[in-house]
Amino acid sequence: MVNEPSVLEALSQITAEENIFIDEPLNKHLYTKLGGNADFFVTPANRAEVQKIVRYANQANISFTLLGNGSNLIVRDGGIRGIVVSPKKFTNIYREGNTLIAESGARIIDVSYRALEEKLTGLEFACGIPGTVGGALYMNAGAYGGEIKDCLEKCVVVDPDGQLLTLQASELALDYRTSNIPEKGYIVLEAHFSLLPGDVNTIKETMANLTEKRESKQPLEYPSCGSVFKRPAGYFAGKLIQDSELQGKGIGGAEVSTKHAGFIVNKNNATATDYIAVIEMVQRTVKEKFGVDLEREVRILGED
Ligand SMILES: Cc1cc2nc3c(=O)[nH]c(=O)nc-3n(C[C@H](O)[C@H](O)[C@H](O)COP(=O)(O)OP(=O)(O)OC[C@H]3O[C@@H](n4cnc5c(N)ncnc54)[C@H](O)[C@@H]3O)c2cc1C
Repeated sequence: MVNEPSVLEALSQITAEENIFIDEPLNKHLYTKLGGNADFFVTPANRAEVQKIVRYANQANISFTLLGNGSNLIVRDGGIRGIVVSPKKFTNIYREGNTLIAESGARIIDVSYRALEEKLTGLEFACGIPGTVGGALYMNAGAYGGEIKDCLEKCVVVDPDGQLLTLQASELALDYRTSNIPEKGYIVLEAHFSLLPGDVNTIKETMANLTEKRESKQPLEYPSCGSVFKRPAGYFAGKLIQDSELQGKGIGGAEVSTKHAGFIVNKNNATATDYIAVIEMVQRTVKEKFGVDLEREVRILGED
C-alpha cells in the first residue's frame, strides 16, 4: 500500500504534513535498530489527532500500529503496512501533589529522574528501562523488585473507537510483563504515577546502585531488545541459555550476548531475520537440552 494517495490525503487533513512520513525506515526509530519500512509513519501533535487517526484507520479499514521506543519489539524486515503512529511528540512530565503525570512518549527513565528531582520515591526501579511511558504500561515494565503496577494510579487512553477514557490501574490487568492493553486495543496517552515524598540522597543512591548493576551485567554497548524471554516457572532464562553454551553464538549480525545470556545483541548490522533466527535457535536448543519452553517477552511485528 506504500504511498497510497487517498491515505496521504486523509492524514493531511488530520495533522500537518511535517508529521507524516511515507515509506519511513523504522530501524532509525527503534532501539533495536532493526526492521523494514512503515507505509505511513505519523507523529501526531496532540491527542485529538490520535483520536482522528484511529477513527480514520477504523473506518477505512487500514491497519494501525503504535510504536514506543522499540526497546521491546522486533519489526520484521518487510516493515509494517498501513499507518504507524509514534507518540514521540508527547513528552511532558509534570507534578500534581505527590503524583507525577507523564505523557506516553516520555521516556520512563526521564520520569524516574524527574521523580528524583522532585524528591519523590517509587520510580527508582525504572531508572534504566529504555522504553516510553506507554511501552512501560503495556509491558508492566519492572526491574529489581519494582514494577509499574506498584506506582501507577491511573492513565488516559484512546480506545479502538477513538474515545478518550480514564482508567484506574486496576482496570489494566497489570501482571508479570503483561497488561490488557493489547487485548483492548488501547493507546496510552498519559500516566499518573502515585509516589511518596522521600529522602533525595537515598533515592539518588538507590538509582546509582541500580545503574551500576545494570551497566555491569547488561550489554548496553549494543542495540538489543533487552531480555528476550520471560522467566520460565522454576528457572531463569539466562541461566538455561548459558548452560546450553549459546553465548557468543550468532546468525548474521545477531548474537547471544557474551555479557548477559538473556540478551540477543545487534552486533553488526543485523537484520530482523537474523535476530529472529537466533531467538528460534535459542528456543530450540534450550528445549532439547532442558525440556523447557522459553516464551518470548519481546513482540514481533510486521512482514517478512
Ligand atoms: C537494554 C534494555 C534493558 C531493558 N530492561 C528492562 C527492564 O529492566 N525491565 C523491563 O520490564 N523491560 C526492560 N526492557 C524492555 C523494554 O525497555 C520495556 O519493555 C519497555 O517498557 C518497552 O517500552 P517501548 O516504548 O520501547 O515499547 P515498544 O518496544 O516500542 O513497544 C512494546 C509494545 O508496547 C506497545 N506500546 C508502546 N507504546 C504504547 C502506547 N503509548 N500505547 C499503547 N501501546 C503502546 C507497542 O505497540 C508494542 O506492542 C529493556 C530493554 C532493553 C533494550
